[in-house]
Amino acid sequence: MTRSRLPALDLFRLGAAVLVVAIHTSPLESISPDLDFWLTRVAARVAVPFFLMVSGFFLAKKDQEGIGRFLKKTLLIYLAAVIFYLPMNLYAGGFSPSDWLRGILWEGTLYHLWYFPALIWGVLFTRLLLHLGRRRALPIAAILYLIGLGGDSYYGIVSAFPVIRQFYDLIFSVTEYTRNGIFLAPLFLLLSAANIRLQPPLAAAGFCLTLSAMSAEAFWLHGAGVQRHDSMYLLLPLCMVCLFSLLVGCNSGRCRAARDISLLVYLLHPGCIVAVRGIARLTGTWPILVENSLGHFTAVLALSAGISALLYLFRPLPADSKSRSWREIDPEALRYNARVLRQAAGPDCELMAVVKADAYGHGAKTVASLLQKDGIRFFAVACLEEGLALRRAGIRGCILVLGWTDPRQAARLAHWRLTQTVADAAHGHALSKTGYNVRVHLAVDTGMHRLGLPADDLAAILEMYRLPGIRVEGIFSHLCVSDSLVADDIAYTKRQAESFRELIKKLKDRGISPGKTHLMASYGLLNCDEPSFDLARAGIALYGVYSDDAPVYHRLELHPVLSLYARVASVRVLSPGESAGYGRAFIAERPTRIAVAAIGYADGLPRCLGGRNGRVLVHGVACPIVGRICMDQLLIDVTDVEEVLPGDTVTLIGRDGSEVIRAETVAEQCGTITNELLSRLGARLPVVVRSSSSSAAFLKSLFS
Ligand SMILES: *Cc1c(COP(=O)(O)O)cnc(C)c1O
Repeated sequence: MTRSRLPALDLFRLGAAVLVVAIHTSPLESISPDLDFWLTRVAARVAVPFFLMVSGFFLAKKDQEGIGRFLKKTLLIYLAAVIFYLPMNLYAGGFSPSDWLRGILWEGTLYHLWYFPALIWGVLFTRLLLHLGRRRALPIAAILYLIGLGGDSYYGIVSAFPVIRQFYDLIFSVTEYTRNGIFLAPLFLLLSAANIRLQPPLAAAGFCLTLSAMSAEAFWLHGAGVQRHDSMYLLLPLCMVCLFSLLVGCNSGRCRAARDISLLVYLLHPGCIVAVRGIARLTGTWPILVENSLGHFTAVLALSAGISALLYLFRPLPADSKSRSWREIDPEALRYNARVLRQAAGPDCELMAVVKADAYGHGAKTVASLLQKDGIRFFAVACLEEGLALRRAGIRGCILVLGWTDPRQAARLAHWRLTQTVADAAHGHALSKTGYNVRVHLAVDTGMHRLGLPADDLAAILEMYRLPGIRVEGIFSHLCVSDSLVADDIAYTKRQAESFRELIKKLKDRGISPGKTHLMASYGLLNCDEPSFDLARAGIALYGVYSDDAPVYHRLELHPVLSLYARVASVRVLSPGESAGYGRAFIAERPTRIAVAAIGYADGLPRCLGGRNGRVLVHGVACPIVGRICMDQLLIDVTDVEEVLPGDTVTLIGRDGSEVIRAETVAEQCGTITNELLSRLGARLPVVVRSSSSSAAFLKSLFS
């Protein structure tokens, strides 16, 4: 059973935008000034508090970073609007630089733009208030609202007292009105975040009652001539709680079009007022389009809505990598890990970023480019093709191919200036015979017995340095139990390191410059106290994860770089006894809501994660993966999560709200290590770089 969708909150945005147009065009002025006063100065006063409340409602569900993104977006929209209306400001004239600055900071540079600074300051200020705790924040916001009220509808009454008058004079020397981010916005932001839910009949009755009472309040104040401005009433917050509760009660789903078009109408209608006047003058329709208030309102609304709808229809549609399932890379985490590992490696050791296997599933081009910008000059890949791909993507510096390459490919190695590992003596001789003068690093076998010349075969190693047709620029070995803290294993690692160190010494004693020396991979840095030579080849740790949760000697605080997301494709309800998925592996024991996520084992998620306590996050709640994982989909039990809809984001690895799913946990559930889990994430998953959260970082520094 799926409820029919009614995106009440987003649809009401359209209504609120119409009310704002009404405020600025006075539709009923020609018919009845009183009626017009009621419409534009009383009823329409719900519009802006409503916009504040929807913002607060959705922001309450976001984390610090989400709020940072929201503020950044709002600021960009505001600045764009400021620039858009610049010609109108200049035409109107009389704008001094200090007015201008004050306008940008508080009142907006045109009459309707005040909302944006109010929203931005409001959100920032509310975050500060919340540091005092929710219980204190709300009463403080209410007091601020009352103070604001005194500078608005009730000014004529309270300013009878000289002290109070002086107080408001002070406020008005900074800003023209009290309806701003300090006195107006926090209360409404907090009221919606408090999520007060009244029963619909009660909310409806409450709304009618409070609106009527507020109308009486407004007419009384208006009649008494005490209003300095008419944005704020004593009963407005109460009225808004009822209205918002009513809307949230029947809200289900979202409507992008309504959201975007209402914003555009809000932004554009003052321009349309000017345009309608121009058209009226040119076409001789002034009496209908301007003098007749209803005609004026209709024309302005039609023009604003028309332009907004067209802009929405023809909005640029960039390719959306986040349409099905995707890997998200956090560049700051990557840079941070590189910095931590550089420090761990010591002052004389440079980092060689291991970006084989598509950078452990993180996207090799993306990762290598980010690291190159960060000053890293050594990269390692597994094979020729990976090296070529990086060169083609503009990666400079040393790219070491760690695996075997057929000597018949020597021309390509040389042409692309890749550095090839010499896998053993025979490989070295074969490469030398091609005569391409390939750059190489010698692999030395100190006990792993995989690739490399035996460490004790000094003659063979010396021969490599003298062979024509190859240029030995480095020498390295690889540790095979450095991830273990068992005494025997530690001893084994020590012997490996010792034998490598001795070899280097012998080479130097014979007057041979060995080139770049390197031994440690991630776990070498984490577990060994040995000197780290010229380079450290860091793979898994660079990506901010450990291979598993086994203890390590130097635990570095690393930040996971990758998050894995998928969209909800469909939601359905099963009755007890009904099954879902292949093999009927899941049988519902209670009425169960199943969300289908658009990701499967063909995307690299291990099939065995199904039926193994695998979990994902939906709306910040951990939900079990149920049944068998399919090639392109998997099933999630979302019975305990409110309102899951198609298109919602499912987090398979990473953070959603306060919950986190770590790659280490998922790997363990699949009986493997993160290295395998991550490096298998398939090419079908686009790589998205998280947009720089510098504003979020700024906010974090402000509030923590
Ligand atoms: C993969 C690999 C590395 C990187 O190992 P991590 O444990 O991921 O840091 C280093 N050296 C060699 C030879 C490798 O094959």
